[in-house]
Amino acid sequence: MGAASLAFLRWIDTHCHLQLDGRPPEELLGRAADVPWLVVPGIDGESSKAAIELARTHPERVVATAGLHPHEADQWQSQQDEITSMIPEVAAVGETGLDFYRNLSDPVAQELSFVAQIQLAVEHKKPIVVHCRDAFARVHELISEHDVGQSTVLHCWTGGPRWTKRFLDLGCWFSFAGPVAFETGETVRLGAELVPPTRALVETDTPYLAPPPHRGEPNEPAWVEFVGTALARVWSIPAEEVAEHTTANARSVFLGGSEQP
Ligand SMILES: [Zn+2]
Repeated sequence: MGAASLAFLRWIDTHCHLQLDGRPPEELLGRAADVPWLVVPGIDGESSKAAIELARTHPERVVATAGLHPHEADQWQSQQDEITSMIPEVAAVGETGLDFYRNLSDPVAQELSFVAQIQLAVEHKKPIVVHCRDAFARVHELISEHDVGQSTVLHCWTGGPRWTKRFLDLGCWFSFAGPVAFETGETVRLGAELVPPTRALVETDTPYLAPPPHRGEPNEPAWVEFVGTALARVWSIPAEEVAEHTTANARSVFLGGSEQP
């Protein structure tokens, strides 16, 4: 398919930290003309509040989430009241999860914060946005124990075939980011091959992980199409189909099925 027809595709960026970018969000929104709406996840109380502010300013394009990132998990005690108070107003709980690669918070604190946010999501009937790095086994156990697989979004999914199969069995959503398009992304692509388009989402994780041909630059929502076209190559289906599926999935997860925020 040619570049001209690509320009008409619509992609939903389901994970971009516009409030942490440093560049004016309006500038990035303006450049992302093919992205009808997008999800701005919080990583702590302050950034969740900033995400909500952005959603209030751009109600037709920005959807906010509120949560505490595993890197900040040792602050759960002091932040839980603030984050909990925001949940009724946001589309999802998170970004939460476990990161045993960087271990910037103590692993015990990470689990405590993650489980508390899973419970919050259950209580408020919201989806959960999960960051999982070097923690596949424990994330799988906790999602399974709490029976929240079908409302779990595995953000920036980088699992290979074995873990992809196991999380598919729980009914999770798989959100793909730049790594599926990286030259070094072979394992991610082997995992992605197993994900049906009906369970996949696309994201940029702005400002991180820019996909080729922009690798190394600060990422932005306009480049989510490079993630979508990488998935189309993995699945050997037209990019239009990937855009249609991932957009329908994003509506179902974050908008309760509505067309627009
Ligand atoms: Zn994130």
